[in-house]
Amino acid sequence: MQPAEARVVSIHYLEILTADVVSGGIHRRTNDVVEFACKELAIALQPQVVWIRSVPKGTATEILNRWKQVPGNLTVGKRLPVKSLDKEIKGGYTPLDLNEIWIQRDLDFPTLEFVAAHEVRHTWQKARHPDVFDDYCRAECDAYAYAYEALERYLEKCRKEDFTPEIRSDIEQKRESVRFKLSQHCPHVRFEAINA
Ligand SMILES: [Zn+2]
Repeated sequence: MQPAEARVVSIHYLEILTADVVSGGIHRRTNDVVEFACKELAIALQPQVVWIRSVPKGTATEILNRWKQVPGNLTVGKRLPVKSLDKEIKGGYTPLDLNEIWIQRDLDFPTLEFVAAHEVRHTWQKARHPDVFDDYCRAECDAYAYAYEALERYLEKCRKEDFTPEIRSDIEQKRESVRFKLSQHCPHVRFEAINA
């Protein structure tokens, strides 16, 4: 038997922000999509949106050290202000053990709307298809395929004036690019939303 190759895992850091880091407009836009997708997917208990930003390791350490010095912060049950993950989070993240979706604070239109729909779909997977949620390829093929379709339905219904031909073709290009990448990485899984 060949010795197992040492795998290099790179660690990425997120700062968990307070709700006031984004404007009321961003909150409204996000909640609107979360509500829309929860309704479509019959999710009764909406996940809470948590804002994040990617930070380098040094910054994460500084944030954590400062936080530890604030009296009371180390009380049991208080959430740490940073989280390390073995993957890079460009848009959003859905933690397994919390009814939350984590979203990068600086996304523009309609990426924010897309990410919100994508993460709500992961919430749905956790509740209805945990085997899908646990399997990277099945989870992402389903969540990406669903979110592009849901985004189009949402824009058509709720933001028609902003659903311009440019935005339509931008969404189509992104969908094709993701479809191609996933077909390389996950050739055994179809790029489609699984049946509810
Ligand atoms: Zn995903």
